[in-house]
Amino acid sequence: MDYFPVFLDLKKRRCLLVGGGEVATRKGRMLAKAGAALRVVAPEISAELRELVVTSHGELLQREYNSNDLQDCVLAIAATDIEALNERISADAQALNLPVNVVDTPALCTYITPAIIDRSPLVIAVSSGGEAPVLARLMRTKLETLIPSGYGKLAQIASQWRDRIKARFNDGDSRRKFWEKILQGPAAELMMNGQEEAANIFISNELAADQPELTQGEVYLVGGGPGDPELLTLRALRLMQQADVVLYDRLVSDGVMELVRRDAERIYVGKRRAEHAMEQENINQLLVDLAKQGKRVLRLKGGDPFIFGRGGEEIELLAQHHIPFQVVPGITAASGCAAYAGIPLTHRDYAQSVRFVTGHLKSDDTNLSWPELANPTQTLVFYMGLVGLKDICESLIAHGRSAQTPVALIEKGTTQEQRVFVSDLVSIADVVAEKDVHAPTLFIVGEVVQLHESLKWFNPAI
Ligand code: SAH
Repeated sequence: MDYFPVFLDLKKRRCLLVGGGEVATRKGRMLAKAGAALRVVAPEISAELRELVVTSHGELLQREYNSNDLQDCVLAIAATDIEALNERISADAQALNLPVNVVDTPALCTYITPAIIDRSPLVIAVSSGGEAPVLARLMRTKLETLIPSGYGKLAQIASQWRDRIKARFNDGDSRRKFWEKILQGPAAELMMNGQEEAANIFISNELAADQPELTQGEVYLVGGGPGDPELLTLRALRLMQQADVVLYDRLVSDGVMELVRRDAERIYVGKRRAEHAMEQENINQLLVDLAKQGKRVLRLKGGDPFIFGRGGEEIELLAQHHIPFQVVPGITAASGCAAYAGIPLTHRDYAQSVRFVTGHLKSDDTNLSWPELANPTQTLVFYMGLVGLKDICESLIAHGRSAQTPVALIEKGTTQEQRVFVSDLVSIADVVAEKDVHAPTLFIVGEVVQLHESLKWFNPAI
């Protein structure tokens, strides 16, 4: 280890910053964030830096540097572009045994500043010892995406409840277990979603319970998107990584399943047309049962859970049983397929609205209002429309939509196997009959489909 990592308490302490340009301003911003009193010395000083000096109750010395400027300071930063001056500041500071940093010049530094991920009070510092700062920054970017922005709020819970939890548990082991449950369970999720009061109520109930270490589980109803794992949201990924058990169906792609925590138990609940591995009622009940066993249950669905996903039914029962849950939206098939096929769903010149429609015509509760679907300036997106494709096209034509309306059938949209068949309302059923098309497919009807030809080439997935 070439450098010893430390976190300095700079609150109200004087720090010398020599320089007034962009780099100095950036350094000034960080110092001010840490509560330092800035002493800025330079003939020219940026407006932002001046403002930082004022808000940090610091000093603005608009002139050349001299060695007296180091007096009463606990730290020095040289951010000028004059080499000789930087060297002088470094030498002066070292003579006084003051930590000094000269921006981008490791040889003149007695300390270096890391790349940081700020989830205050939680702060993560990354350093390559000055050898590869860009690599350190790339690493920071990776960590930024992995660590939720609300993570720092967990530290708030920790400090608020510390004493009471300490008093409640005598032995360190059960105290630690309780903390782990709190910081990884429903209370943490509530806190990160900004529901501080609910989080506090939750912890307080847990503490009051007879066996507080056995806390109740929770359910994450997560949209896994249409197939390409890169379309997952950061929150979806985070919850996938912390689940104990996952219930998934056929629409969830293999690539997405790969990202679920390795040792999570996996339960396939089917949902192929006419082949249900598990009835909906049983799925609903299983979610309740697993959560009651104290598990973090991931209900992973294709696309968005609230679009033709029966997500509403699944959480209804959870609500009745007072089981904590959260719903994470996903990219629905219409958005994913349209984007990857180069078909904007609305367009000023072609369509002013878009409608998502179920094509599952045989279902008892499907009652489409065909006259409303005939409007030529409206894009229609049919989900589950492959089996009823011919009927859909005939009904649209019968109700006045032009037989020449361009249409696209997208098979396995956003995946490596995506295929796009473009035709018109009158011919698409024949086109599809000739090919060996497999579910899932999405059917897009409307003038916007014309754009596929010109926009598709810009998409690397095709
Ligand atoms: N909740 C899902 C939809 C579930 S209904 C969502 O928001 O996307 C199932 C239907 O979605 C399928 O019959 C098919 O029409 C469509 N679908 C889902 N993923 C698809 C994909 N990758 N490509 C094409 N269609 C898809």
